Amino acid sequence: MERKNAWLSYTEADEKELEATAKGYRDFLDNGKTERECVTEIVRQAEAAGYTDLNAVLKEGKTLKAGDKVYAVGMKKIVAMFHIGTKALSDGMSILCAHIDSPRLDIKQNPLYEDTSLCYLDTHYYGGVKKYQWVTLPLAIHGVIVKKDGTVVTVTVGEKEDDPIVYITDLLIHLSAKQLQKTAAEVIEGESLDILIGSRPLKDLPDDKKKEAVKENVLRILEDMYGVTEEDFLSAELEIVPAGRARECGLDRSMVAAYGQDDRVCAYTSLAAMLEMDEVPERTSCCLLVDKEEIGSVGATGMQSRFFENTVADLLDALGGFSEQALRHALKNSSMLSSDVSAGFDPAYQEAFEKKNAAYLGRGIVLNKFTGSRGKSGSNDANAEYVARIRRIFDGHQVSFQTAELGKVDVGGGGTIAYIAALYGMNVIDSGVAVLSMHAPWEITSKADIYEAKKAYKAFLKEA
Ligand code: MN
Ligand code: MN
Repeated sequence: MERKNAWLSYTEADEKELEATAKGYRDFLDNGKTERECVTEIVRQAEAAGYTDLNAVLKEGKTLKAGDKVYAVGMKKIVAMFHIGTKALSDGMSILCAHIDSPRLDIKQNPLYEDTSLCYLDTHYYGGVKKYQWVTLPLAIHGVIVKKDGTVVTVTVGEKEDDPIVYITDLLIHLSAKQLQKTAAEVIEGESLDILIGSRPLKDLPDDKKKEAVKENVLRILEDMYGVTEEDFLSAELEIVPAGRARECGLDRSMVAAYGQDDRVCAYTSLAAMLEMDEVPERTSCCLLVDKEEIGSVGATGMQSRFFENTVADLLDALGGFSEQALRHALKNSSMLSSDVSAGFDPAYQEAFEKKNAAYLGRGIVLNKFTGSRGKSGSNDANAEYVARIRRIFDGHQVSFQTAELGKVDVGGGGTIAYIAALYGMNVIDSGVAVLSMHAPWEITSKADIYEAKKAYKAFLKEA
């Protein structure tokens, strides 16, 4: 049983909408290369679509009603949006969930050093990366430095045409005989992922500072640009990501090549579906975009935190009907598409896949009944009844979809956030977009799958 290629079904109108979606997606990726930047962009788009801050609603003592649109943000890194439906919230919500953090290199708290008149920032990688992929590429710095007085300084270096970029070196091939004997896991070590940021010494320094004249010059530049000192790195969150904009890929322009598509491809399409909902829904629609998935959904802004539960409690309060039982029911009666990227079948590495149960570029949104590894360990295994309901909704709205699992049995595996939402007793299934070279600095997706994901999410919000 093979699923059809979605491209073959498109009318001219479909193709036009597909291109518009792909363009909006590329802009979203360019505006959001960190979880903080994503939240800023999501809130901007939500407010433009008539969403207001749930905290402000609570503070003003207003009561919400069907048709109202609100959002809540936690620590600038996790966001939930709600479009209030005509049914009681305790009857459950239709929830689109995805994550907005991506693998990258984080700057250490004490990062700056000089060696032989070259100046570096030391990093600790975030999430699962093949370290050898991150050397000899144009890299950018994105993030914040928070000064002791609380001032938040936003940093973006390496994105504008005339910005400098930063860089990680590799050993020249001529001297690499020994390095090339190492396994790929060790050929570039985590501790050697240091970012080259300067080589020009500051002139006329007092004798005690002359030894680190390049570092002194970098510190002078940081002082000039941002008004920060070396100590301010202690309270900074600076992320090193590939520099440059999302691009179309292929002579036929059928794909998107960009950094951070895991999982911003699902986050963007979920957001777009939510914002394009013009009718008042029956069940309250929700879009939940979370942080920290790549390191186990931990912390106050990850899916394991109480952020979502607390926000739904606030929402019940704003609807004038909070009780502990209403909260439990609202969560238990909900349905969720927990979206994360799937491993796209790659002909160059077919041995890692089982062809009948792999995700293919261009065949639409992927449903993963289960994820996990070594005998489905760590997986949320969606209920067959729920899978049937989702099939019915997708088919009813001409959504191209396929089913898959992550690679061959026992080749590897991976987890998502579905199992955490499932703890409330709600129906959850993993879904998402197939990606080639997942977690690489530049990942590949199909425009058709991006378009089908948005269609799928819109259908889900309407019917689930
Ligand atoms: Mn992911
Ligand atoms: Mn991932």
